[in-house]
Amino acid sequence: MYETFNTDALVIGESGTGEADSVVTLLSRTRGVITAFANGARKPKNRLHGATSLFCYSDFTIFEKGETLNISGAALNTMFFKVRDSIEKLAAAEAFCELARVLAPHNDQGAAKYLRVILNSLHYLCEDKIPPVALKCLVELRYLTYAGFMPRLVACEECGRFESEYMYFSPHDGLIYCEDHPVKGEKVPLAVIDAMRHIVFSEIKPLFALKVPEENLKQLSTLLDVYLKTVTGMRFPAVDFLATFT
Ligand SMILES: [Zn+2]
Repeated sequence: MYETFNTDALVIGESGTGEADSVVTLLSRTRGVITAFANGARKPKNRLHGATSLFCYSDFTIFEKGETLNISGAALNTMFFKVRDSIEKLAAAEAFCELARVLAPHNDQGAAKYLRVILNSLHYLCEDKIPPVALKCLVELRYLTYAGFMPRLVACEECGRFESEYMYFSPHDGLIYCEDHPVKGEKVPLAVIDAMRHIVFSEIKPLFALKVPEENLKQLSTLLDVYLKTVTGMRFPAVDFLATFT
């Protein structure tokens, strides 16, 4: 079966095969995470070169032959080149891509919301509008929520209380407890719970008004990383590398 289709997509992974060719992983609007060959793309003068590099958001034309996808055309929309301004920003962008590769649907519909979150996050990362680690927390928890791993953040599991000065978050099952019911989990200031609630429950536009007090960012990030690894059972080297910056 031969078929050609068009989709916009972000390049979330790229590796070479031989001297001239590359294999790219795309987060595509219409088919989620897909892997495609970009023949000749590693040659600087190749027509695919500029639009198939890591962190490029492009319009792709893809030729499908059986299980194999070949990129036949690519037009660059946005190149997030400012992510290379600092090692921390680059590490954050790599972490976003790693989260997308694992949590977004593979070769399936339903990826548009994942694409929207990561494109916005890369924009805010480039413009230094939100700290890189805070943006990682946003992508991480929002993607976990989309993927069916939403923690139960509404109220204390024991008494239904909505908030107390300190609360407890259990990163092994995503449950919260108030200060009167420290059943399990780690003690966190309410600001950490509020940040998680914001990431999980906000509409897309106010989502990026996320504010995490600087003194709480490391704790939030660490708890979310534990939760991520617990629910997926997977390793996240890029997420771990970014954690060395907090
Ligand atoms: Zn309680």
